[in-house]
Amino acid sequence: MSVLINDTCINCGACIDECPVEAIVDEDDNPDDEDVYYVYGDKCVECVSHHDEPACATACPTEGCITWDVIGDSPSHRDDITDEQRNDKANIVD
Ligand code: SF4
Ligand code: SF4
Repeated sequence: MSVLINDTCINCGACIDECPVEAIVDEDDNPDDEDVYYVYGDKCVECVSHHDEPACATACPTEGCITWDVIGDSPSHRDDITDEQRNDKANIVD
């Protein structure tokens, strides 16, 4: 993973078109069969080289819905995000 959409997602769709690498899918394509949007961690680049911060989180109207997650197979990630922020699933946008 890299960033994570949690179960407070209201399926509004505001994030999906903001992603520069098409890492986000909607609830119909959620590989976990959960009724929320989903980020593929092996595609998400945390918007490095695209935006100053993750564009999905900036667009999301639901506070705390998109958080940091472990880097995993992410092809690129932000070096200024601590392990603590990732392990604690810290909010990207307060
Ligand atoms: S952080 Fe950026 S690259 Fe990752 S899912 Fe969100 S918009 Fe896409
Ligand atoms: S913008 Fe937030 S609430 Fe809306 S679909 Fe994306 S993750 Fe869910």
